[in-house]
Parts: sequence; C-alpha cells; structure tokens
Amino acid sequence: MKSSQQPAPSTRLRLRLSPAAEKAVKSGHPWVFSESVRDQNREGRAGELAVIYSRDDKFLAVGLYDPASPLRVRIVHSGKPATLDAAWWQERLRLTLAKREGMFTAETNGYRCINGESDGWPGLVLDRYAGTLVLKLYSAAWLPRLEEVLEWLSAALKPDGIVLRLSRNITETAGRDFGLQEGIIRGDTEETVVFTENGLKFEAEVIHGQKTGFFLDQRENRRLVSHLSAGSNVLNAFSFSGGFSLYAANGGARRVTDLDISAHALAAGDRNFALNKTVRAIADCERQTVRADAFEWLASGPKASFDLVIVDPPSLAKREADRAGAITAYERLVVSALRRGRRGGVLVAASCSAHVSADEFFGAVERAALPWNTRRLWTSGHAPDHAVNFRE
Ligand code: SAH
Repeated sequence: MKSSQQPAPSTRLRLRLSPAAEKAVKSGHPWVFSESVRDQNREGRAGELAVIYSRDDKFLAVGLYDPASPLRVRIVHSGKPATLDAAWWQERLRLTLAKREGMFTAETNGYRCINGESDGWPGLVLDRYAGTLVLKLYSAAWLPRLEEVLEWLSAALKPDGIVLRLSRNITETAGRDFGLQEGIIRGDTEETVVFTENGLKFEAEVIHGQKTGFFLDQRENRRLVSHLSAGSNVLNAFSFSGGFSLYAANGGARRVTDLDISAHALAAGDRNFALNKTVRAIADCERQTVRADAFEWLASGPKASFDLVIVDPPSLAKREADRAGAITAYERLVVSALRRGRRGGVLVAASCSAHVSADEFFGAVERAALPWNTRRLWTSGHAPDHAVNFRE
C-alpha cells in the first residue's frame, strides 16, 4: 500500500450538526450528510475519526469522516465517550462475529460475517465463502485503515485468503491515493470458490462476480422454495447462478427453467447443477435455460405453464427518482408472472431496490394480483446474517 498519508493533525476533528441531524444521530442513525454539518474546527481527511458534539457541547458520537462523500460521517459509536483504539475495534469484531455463532450448521459455510452499518461497520461488508473472505468497501474512509482491518480479520477468522472488492465510486481514489485494486490481498484463493449452503454446493465468483460473488441474502427464501417445489414445474426468472433452481430441484421439482439475460449467469448455473449431480433429486430434475429479457419473455409466452414462478429482478430503482417507475415495473412483472403460473400455483416475488420500501413492494404485488384469486402465503425479509437496523 502507498503511504501517501500526511502526518496526523494534532487536534481532534470536531463537528456540530443541524438540529435535525443531531436528533437523528441521538436516535442511532448511522449517517451524517454534508449539508447537515454546521460547524467544524478544521478540514478532515478520509478515514479520520470525527467527534460529534451537541449544540450545548456534549459528546454525541464518533464516526469515520469522508471529505469527498455527501455521506460525510458514518457513525461507529454513540452514547458515552470512548477511545476507539485497536482493542476497541477488535472487541467490536468479536461481538459482530459472536452474533453469527450458532446461526449456521457445518452444512453452510457461505454467509455474511459483517453487514455494514447494521453491525457497526458502516460502509464495510465481509462475506465468507468456505476458507475465503471477501471484504467489500463502500466508503473511502476505510482505505487508510485497511491494513489494520486485514490484520484483525486474519487474526480472528484465520482465512486461507482475503479478496478485496471496491464499490465503483471509490475505485479511483483507492488506486490513485492508496495503490489498491480489487483482487486477492492476503493469502491465497481462487477466482471461483466452491462453498456449501444448506448442504448444496455453489460457486462464488469472488473477484469478478456481482456483489461479493453470490446472493447470500436469499438463503432463507431459497430454502422456502425447496419446500414448495415437490413435483413442480418451476420457472426461475432472473436466475443468476441458479440458486433458487437448485433448491427447487433438491426439493423434488420435476422441471426447472432458468431465465436470465446473461449467458455468463446461465453458465454458472450449469456448473452449480453439475457440482450437485450426486444428489439424486437434482440429477433427476429436468433443467432448461432460456437466455432472454425476462420482462419480455414473461409477458409474451404461453399462459398457465408453471406451478411455481420466482421473480427476483435486479434493483429497479437505483436512485430515489426511479422509485415510482420501479413500483410500476414490479406491478407489470407480477402480472406477467401470474399469467405464466397455473391455477393453484405459487408466485415468489422478491425486491432488492433500496429506494422501494417493503410495504411499497408488497403493495405493488397485491395490486397486481387483485384480478386473480390469490392469497398471501408468506412474507420474509433478509436472512439473519443480513439483518438491517435502519431504513436506508
Ligand atoms: N435470484 C438470484 C439473484 C438475481 S440477481 C439468486 O438468488 O442468486 C439478478 C439477475 O437478473 C442477474 O443474474 C442478471 O443477469 C439478471 N437480469 C438483469 N436484467 C435482466 C433482464 N432484463 N432479463 C433477465 N435477466 C436479467
């Protein structure tokens, strides 16, 4: 890593906020936006600790400062004053990992170890795939702290290798100011790592795949699908690497169709099926793949073909401005998906759009389903290793 850092300033970075932001921080919200900063004793550097005081000079919180981001401070501690030294961070790591203890059996060695803000590590995600850790950073504030973070992770989790992933908005800064790029940063691992989830084998493309290589957050929903699949003809729309389909096949589906626009995703699905061919139910399940735009394919194909239809599209609202359009698009998607389902069949609809609330999404599904005689069987959220504790 380049050591382009200036010597540390001798005074602590101190901030005061607007009344609304002060209230939000007091209530435990993890973000402070740049426009909420009212008063600051000096310029701050990326990753430095910023101490937030109330208007009557009481300590409120400490956070990671990022001068280049509209998300100016990401809170890591609030309440009583504390010294955030290495021992403090290591204790936070211990507590974070302890939350996952007992959550998984030996049949599952792919899961989220650190879930950003919700675990007190704002802008930092850590996923484990067997012996490989994938660290994904969403904030430049972690870049100057990376060496120490890697040291703590190595000591606590003893991985074979650690892969660094960077969100697009910090890639340039990481390269220019810190000489960092995505890839293996500690130990050794492969580009594609095989791990197990509820006893099924999957590949994670840890260096080049979406997110950290796999959609671990759907684990519990995939398990639900396996219980709904016996004897069924299943359509998995937006199938990615076939996660839902493998669970369906394992649950006794007669036939699964993987539908995705990406040939790469469908090929990953082929490999995941091959990895599990020793499982009788999976070997017996007939599988086909369709490479097409799922919105078009669902809207135009024959009616009433499938017993179980899964729709798990990518985020349809990347920005707040896309919210209304995304809700309408979900409605249309659900209408098409229901058309393709048989009477008495099941629809599994999922949304990963941060700007669309769960209630807005459920509302869209229910409005679309109104003309049909439907019943809501189940609603679910994130898997327990992905628990979230703030709205955004
Ligand atoms: N259900 C998956 C995750 C889906 S990710 C799982 O549990 O692992 C979203 C997928 O949608 C990606 O694989 C992407 O290639 C695909 N996709 C994006 N736009 C699409 C479109 N218009 N039609 C079909 N697939 C699309």
